[in-house]
Amino acid sequence: MKVRELCLLLICSVAPLVKVASGQYDINIGLLYEDNNPLIAKIFDQAIESANSELLQNTNRLVGRTAEITYGNAFDASRKLCKMMSEGVAAIFGPISRGPSTHAMSLTDEKEILFIDTQWDDNVRQTTINLHPDPKTLVLVLRDLVEAYEWEEFTILYESGPYLPVLDDLLIIFEKFGHPITVRRYDLNLSGNYRNVLRKIRQSPDYRIIIVGSVETLPELLKQAQQVGLITHQYQYIIVNLDFHTLDLEPYQYSESNITGIRIFNPEDVRVQQLSAQITEEDDVFAYAEEEDTEMEAVKSQVTTAMALMYDAVYLLAETFRHVGNLELFQPESLACEDSSTWASGLTLFNYMKTTTYRGITGEIKFDHHGLRTDFTLDIIELTTAGVVKTGTWNWNPNGNNSLHFEREHHTFIPENVDLLFANKTFVVVTAISAPYGMLKETDVPLSGNDQYEGFGIDLIHELSVMLGFNYTFKMREDKNYGTCDNITKMCTGMLGDVTAGRADLAITDLTMTSDREPGVDFTMPFMNLGISILYRKPTKEAPDFFSFMSPLSTEVWIYLGLAYLTVSLSLFILGRLSPAEWDNPYPCVEEPTVLENQFSLNNAMWFTIGAVLQQGSEIAPKAPSTRTVASIWWFFTLIMVSSYTANLAAFLTIESLSSPINSAEDLANNVGGVTYGAKSGGSTFNFFKGSQHEVYKKMYEYMAAHPGMMTSSNEEGVDKAENENYAFLMESTSIEYNVERKCKLTQIGNLLDEKGYGIAMRKNSPYRNELSQAILNLQEQGVLSKMKTKWWKEKRGGGACSQKTESDSAEELGMPNLGGIYCVLIVGSFLGSIYGIVEWFCVIYRRARRFRVPLKEELLEELKFVMRCSGNTKEVKHRKSSMRSSRNSSLTLESIGTENSEGANLHNDDDS
Ligand code: GLU
Repeated sequence: MKVRELCLLLICSVAPLVKVASGQYDINIGLLYEDNNPLIAKIFDQAIESANSELLQNTNRLVGRTAEITYGNAFDASRKLCKMMSEGVAAIFGPISRGPSTHAMSLTDEKEILFIDTQWDDNVRQTTINLHPDPKTLVLVLRDLVEAYEWEEFTILYESGPYLPVLDDLLIIFEKFGHPITVRRYDLNLSGNYRNVLRKIRQSPDYRIIIVGSVETLPELLKQAQQVGLITHQYQYIIVNLDFHTLDLEPYQYSESNITGIRIFNPEDVRVQQLSAQITEEDDVFAYAEEEDTEMEAVKSQVTTAMALMYDAVYLLAETFRHVGNLELFQPESLACEDSSTWASGLTLFNYMKTTTYRGITGEIKFDHHGLRTDFTLDIIELTTAGVVKTGTWNWNPNGNNSLHFEREHHTFIPENVDLLFANKTFVVVTAISAPYGMLKETDVPLSGNDQYEGFGIDLIHELSVMLGFNYTFKMREDKNYGTCDNITKMCTGMLGDVTAGRADLAITDLTMTSDREPGVDFTMPFMNLGISILYRKPTKEAPDFFSFMSPLSTEVWIYLGLAYLTVSLSLFILGRLSPAEWDNPYPCVEEPTVLENQFSLNNAMWFTIGAVLQQGSEIAPKAPSTRTVASIWWFFTLIMVSSYTANLAAFLTIESLSSPINSAEDLANNVGGVTYGAKSGGSTFNFFKGSQHEVYKKMYEYMAAHPGMMTSSNEEGVDKAENENYAFLMESTSIEYNVERKCKLTQIGNLLDEKGYGIAMRKNSPYRNELSQAILNLQEQGVLSKMKTKWWKEKRGGGACSQKTESDSAEELGMPNLGGIYCVLIVGSFLGSIYGIVEWFCVIYRRARRFRVPLKEELLEELKFVMRCSGNTKEVKHRKSSMRSSRNSSLTLESIGTENSEGANLHNDDDS
């Protein structure tokens, strides 16, 4: 046993010598840790082990010496440190509380031993390097956050002690904003009861609180803040402590309080996860965690900022030694606290380490000449129902180019105490003259202030002010420029620029909520929904068709009707000749006639058929079943045809067709009818076309961009142009509705091209937004908004002028334009009939004159005289000679034989008469 111990001792003492001889060194480094934080020693050992193998490749080695001290005991710290220094250490790590660390730093300073701190500390010392960001730098994050959130009045709640100096810096920075800031202190002397101070905050009108405190006090402070009702949806917090995310935040996760924090490392980083897993596995204290996954998670999240910084600090030292290479110079020496000895290489090591950079789990590690951390990045985090989420980053640059960049939107909150929020507030509301949202009152009495204006927007602000209890002053934007916002700089122009620059608090008019305005301003819920459409002249009535009586039936039907007529007439003619029943005795008194007569000559068949079409009778009556069948079917056919024609004719004659050159945006884009078009310059309508990927809208944008003369500076100008020129104005549907109520020549063409809403604009993250939105919803539900719309659209300022004039749907009397065609047919028909009558009359006279051998002229004159006499229904039978009878009989016989010649039968009748 003794031999073995001796051997071990020998090996232990000889090994370093062997190493030194070969240019390899073991450098002792020490850690002072407090008994309330034993895990830090684990991290220290772990970091040394990994750094030795990863960075120093185990050629040189860091050797850890750890000493546990009683929490907050400066004497214990001094004692243990002295012991360590007497054994020889190159650097001391000390994430210990303020009292012991002040003592330890004084000692290391005196002995010129490097002290590596990882705590919030504003002391700059000769040989101290701190990996924790300097409090003065954290003040700048706070300043940038307050500016970004546009906080004006707030309370700073700070923990006494090391956080006091921060307060001075904060007050100096915020003083120049000129807003009232309340400062309150909480500290450990209150024996963990902070309720009084928290209650005071609750009683004050401040709902924005900055907490600057240590990770030891924060859990209790937050717990008590919740108890006194300070962590509700109406409060907003910024917590300045890099360990905020390591606290148990679940109790506040659903409070709807807006809690912002900062952190220097991402707990989801692989290296942090590995570190967390390593310490969990190795530590017996946490062995139980392995049994339950949930517990395991809880333990894993225990990597605190101090641990992460400690880990990085060890790596940084190893990296420094790696750069130095030959560590002979940095062999630690034994130093006694009692004498004035110092370590000659301490300052050199300090300088080496200051200039070394390394990318650790807390990001880029770099120092300024004081040994303070520089060029680092902090995560801006927020507590949400889903836990802690990163919302942005803040980069520290000593040249002053530090920047705050948000990756996602910061949530605003709804202040519960509305009276408090709006009390004594007078909002400057910017608006523009745009009917009916904002108009100048029409009166002879001179008016001033808010009294000058009226309109939908003016009424809406008034209703909101009554509901929420604020005052307002209207400010008119003369150039009617509503404005747009730059996506990157978030700078806005026009009315929106007035809001962002603080010249106005709210902006109201027909102000469309668009994505390009959202980065610069916040909008309330929409108070009106609409879409883009086309304002153009009403379609004109088409001149009625001269032959409109033909319109009820298509040309095809008319042709088939004519063919049917001819076919049926022909079938009757043929069937008539075929059917024996259709052959009659012309002289019923002659029992055995020598001839038979058939009534269905081709002429008569056609006459019979047309009589049925025209709903008239003829003396011809079919007798044979076949002809009767055909006739009945024809009658039925004509019944249906005529009824359909009559019914359709009524509609055709009374309904007027309207025509417009354009019916849609496509027509405009294709320049149908030569209609020019445009929109309000710089308005959301124009921007819709500008940003559209739709082929038609793109084409329309190109047209508008190429024709600036077609763009208008206001809606009114566009409406005038649409009324007086062949011009279509692209406008929002609600404004179109307003104008077509008053300008009866105008109408909306086509459907809506998109869907959007009008909202009230205000500065980003305004605390008033939710309340104003809520009030708008209430007004909507109570029907106030729709009443206001009826008032300004249909009643006031000439509203309803066009709805009274709308043509009734009842039938109008028909004029000559409707019926001219049928008159024309009548005239032509009558004319042709008269011509036929005259020709026939002439032919009969001519034949008679020839037959009776009288002069034609004489016969014509005599007949003409009879006709011109216009009286008497009887006419003497002329040239009635007995000799004629025999000739007539012979003629009759001849004609009876040729019965197919109906013309012959007619001639016979003529003579008879
Ligand atoms: N409402 C539009 C805007 O907010 C103005 C009118 C328009 O572009 O049609 O820009």
